[in-house]
Amino acid sequence: MPAKHLDVALLAYTPEPLSLIYAAFRQCYHAGFVADMWPRLLAGEISREKQAEFVAKILESGHVSPIEHVSFTFAIEGISRALTHQLVRHRIASYSQQSQRYVDASSFDYILPPAIKKIPEAKARFEAFMEEVGATYRDLKEILEEHGRKDKAKEDARFVLPQAAETRIVATMNCRSLLNFFEQRCCMRAQWEIRALADRMLSLCRASLPEVFSVAGAKCERLGHCPEGEKFTCGKYPLPKA
Ligand SMILES: Cc1cc2nc3c(=O)[nH]c(=O)nc-3n(C[C@H](O)[C@H](O)[C@H](O)COP(=O)(O)OP(=O)(O)OC[C@H]3O[C@@H](n4cnc5c(N)ncnc54)[C@H](O)[C@@H]3O)c2cc1C
Repeated sequence: MPAKHLDVALLAYTPEPLSLIYAAFRQCYHAGFVADMWPRLLAGEISREKQAEFVAKILESGHVSPIEHVSFTFAIEGISRALTHQLVRHRIASYSQQSQRYVDASSFDYILPPAIKKIPEAKARFEAFMEEVGATYRDLKEILEEHGRKDKAKEDARFVLPQAAETRIVATMNCRSLLNFFEQRCCMRAQWEIRALADRMLSLCRASLPEVFSVAGAKCERLGHCPEGEKFTCGKYPLPKA
């Protein structure tokens, strides 16, 4: 039952993302059929710079629905159930999460918060509790199996598992939803674990589609001020003038 660390892999994203956004946007104002333009786009007849200019305009104007045509799919491990409870609140997304009903957690791994790790006394208490939970889970599973719950024993024994329990999830979001996710979760106000995840996802998105994600991040990066108010601001940007 060791402590685990965050790992994020970009499994896939929509092919030709920039051209697809450009084509979708052009269809809104173009009298012809955008499918006729598609082979020319793929052949590079309309430069990447020109396409990027259009995309920049979309983002500036707020007419952002064309970026919804492009999605990114991530495989994530080394995260806690506490994190995924927050992650799945982002509804404009698709998720497939490792099931505690079907996957045996007799030797579950867990996430150790850095603040607890730093204090030897807190770390020892935390780790002892994880051992205790593991032992209780195994005992309950065995007792339930003996009482005929068989394959279903895991789904009841899991009720003792902690929020720290490690989980794995596949998440897909379109670019618009990702920008909203980054605005909220790259912010210093977000909890450290989901912020670390958001930062990793953002760097993968930036590397694949800088035209959309180079300026993405916490809301303050776009606004130039902090909208979180006096109580919650981290101080990186000034509060808006009253
Ligand atoms: C720092 C922080 C603290 C938080 N604290 C809490 C907390 O204490 N308790 C708590 O319950 N949650 C909390 N949350 C979660 C937060 O309230 C949101 O539920 C979560 O961040 C998902 O955001 P979203 O709705 O914008 O995302 P999505 O669900 O992905 O939605 C994206 C956008 O689509 C639109 N949309 C989606 N669904 C609807 C709908 N039904 N009606 C209208 N428009 C819709 C909205 O414009 C929304 O912004 C917190 C989030 C953060 C970042």
